[in-house]
Amino acid sequence: MNIILLGPPGAGKGTQAQRLVEHRGMRQLSTGDMLRAAVKAGTPVGLEAKAVMERGELVSDEIVSKLIDAELTAMGADAGAIFDGYPRTEAQAHALDALLAQHGRSLDYVIELEVNEDALVERITGRFTCANCGEGYHDVFKQPAVEATCDKCGSREFKRRLDDNEDTVRTRMGEYRAKTAPILPVYEARGIVRRVDGMADIGTVTDAIEAILAA
Ligand code: AMP
Repeated sequence: MNIILLGPPGAGKGTQAQRLVEHRGMRQLSTGDMLRAAVKAGTPVGLEAKAVMERGELVSDEIVSKLIDAELTAMGADAGAIFDGYPRTEAQAHALDALLAQHGRSLDYVIELEVNEDALVERITGRFTCANCGEGYHDVFKQPAVEATCDKCGSREFKRRLDDNEDTVRTRMGEYRAKTAPILPVYEARGIVRRVDGMADIGTVTDAIEAILAA
């Protein structure tokens, strides 16, 4: 099973991908995570991507498609793939078709998380993660059960993304509207788009996605 999770920043793609990884043993391929790791490690890709990401603009198609290719090669053929934050442009959608064919895979579903954009700024600017295990939290919607302590691993260190500020979020949404939303019709024509209410609570969204995958 190979699926794309599509939706604007803050729609819940990463959260849902992590849950599918836990429930179904699929692999999450998040170009955002890969790029953040490259920035942290100071690799040539990271050096090129850093300023672009801080502005909320899109990194080059070539860079992200190469990252996906490397990840597909590394993960082997057995596990299903969840593409999270990729493809984000028409060129990336074409590149993904070619990569899937090369790796003997085909796309089952494109799951669009439908959200109310006005609510996304609050969702994004309030989010933070455990610095140790990556568990996601939110200032308003999901505080750790014990104050300042990760529910999952007990770490007391948390981090926030540099690009999760209001200005950058608005740019990221503009990029989504201009460059990413237009790729949906391509997948619609193939009959593989399914829509889920991304404003529902996390578990309800997961159930809706699971129902699609089980159909
Ligand atoms: P994300 O974690 O998916 O929100 O991505 C964070 C940032 O990484 C984006 O705002 C872009 O600057 C960059 N990025 C992630 N994925 C892509 C992609 N597929 N194409 C271009 N830029 C990307």
